[in-house]
Amino acid sequence: MTTSGSAGRVAIVGGGPAGLMAAEACRADGAQVDLYEAKGSVGRKFLLAGKGGLNLTHSDRPTQFVERYGARQAQVAPWLSAFDAEALRAWARELGIETFVGTSGRVFPTDLKAAPLLRRWVHRLRERGVRFHVHHYCTDIDGDRTLTFQTAAGSRSIGADAVVLALGGGSWPQLGSDGRWTAWLANRGISIAPLTPSNCGFDVGWSEHFATKYAGAPVKSVIVSDGTRRLQGEFVITADGIEGSAIYALSSTLRDTIENKGGVQIHLDLAPGRDLERLRTDLARPRKGRSLTEHLRRAAGIEGVKAALLYEVMPRDAMNAIESLVASIKALPLTLVRARPIEEAISTAGGVRFDAIDERSMLKALPGVFCAGEMIDWEAPTGGYLLTACMASGRLAGEGAAAWARQLIRP
Ligand SMILES: Cc1cc2nc3c(=O)[nH]c(=O)nc-3n(C[C@H](O)[C@H](O)[C@H](O)COP(=O)(O)OP(=O)(O)OC[C@H]3O[C@@H](n4cnc5c(N)ncnc54)[C@H](O)[C@@H]3O)c2cc1C
Repeated sequence: MTTSGSAGRVAIVGGGPAGLMAAEACRADGAQVDLYEAKGSVGRKFLLAGKGGLNLTHSDRPTQFVERYGARQAQVAPWLSAFDAEALRAWARELGIETFVGTSGRVFPTDLKAAPLLRRWVHRLRERGVRFHVHHYCTDIDGDRTLTFQTAAGSRSIGADAVVLALGGGSWPQLGSDGRWTAWLANRGISIAPLTPSNCGFDVGWSEHFATKYAGAPVKSVIVSDGTRRLQGEFVITADGIEGSAIYALSSTLRDTIENKGGVQIHLDLAPGRDLERLRTDLARPRKGRSLTEHLRRAAGIEGVKAALLYEVMPRDAMNAIESLVASIKALPLTLVRARPIEEAISTAGGVRFDAIDERSMLKALPGVFCAGEMIDWEAPTGGYLLTACMASGRLAGEGAAAWARQLIRP
């Protein structure tokens, strides 16, 4: 397609943070860059992330940061060593977006919004010569890097010297990432781990009374334990179960255990500030004719949704015996029966397996085709780790594609 020595033409498919970063890196290396996006505009999930304040990255020490990628830390580490949290903050600053470190160590733009950042980013990319093609839904790619798109004007075939696929995972499909690429890439011989929900809620199966009264209620502060880890934070009661940051942080292990064993039990410490001994003393105080609910509130500070959780989960007679009551307040067992559907998850696990790509994220079975972002088989908790790895991998894939298009790295 290109003659040796020219800059070459790169097609980026997918306009999320990974694709946009790939376009930026690729253009900086001199390639002609066309970005194709299924929806009518780019960055829809990025904008949704802005509703939660846009947690761009985290202020963890680098060694701690990389541990958040769990079983994939060895593979994600090289992405981050080229573009880490500090680099991301510097990049945002260059766009005129200052960031700050919140109390939890999470990093946000000072205005807590995604739209101004995205607007400036897309504007800068256009100024630098990236061409955007929206309403282009990719349905296939062949071994010659010819892409097939569905467009309003019908089917279109587009060839390129190099391609970056940045098609996202499978959550919130209404925003564009529908995970259907798994089928056509698998048909091309690419090894793909099934997409599964990550940072997701779980079903418990509440009684109708509890669900009606408490759906939407935040449970805080609480310690959630999965038997291995204990995390202090908060979660929210939903109509069917639970969701929220303290649950998301444990969600990969909980999901995998449910998959292997059909269910998983977690334990809730509803009184993180009081130890067993203190609770025992507090609750042993005379009730003076007060109801148990009132006694729990006055003596132990357990009220509202926390008290309701005890009544929901514990047998009545256990509520009236002080030892079992104290034990349940400190370690209330809750059985999670299934993960919520992938469509509702914050992110997805699974995707293109690392053994299908090389160190530049190029598909071994499709030379010249690179992958980036959530479509690769890694996962991380919320906290800015998702966007950081998406952008870092986008950069790497963009640089790789530009080098390939210039025939710098072809065999
Ligand atoms: C509610 C919510 C809040 C979040 N908050 C945060 C947060 O605060 N911090 C954080 O780090 N992460 C957050 N995330 C996760 C983060 O948004 C994603 O991990 C990130 O957007 C993934 O980037 P990506 O570029 O890989 O994929 P995406 O952002 O999903 O982008 C992929 C793009 O590819 C397009 N596409 C898909 N298939 C095709 C196709 N066949 N043809 C053409 N185009 C296609 C899609 O339309 C989409 O524009 C949040 C996610 C959700 C759902």
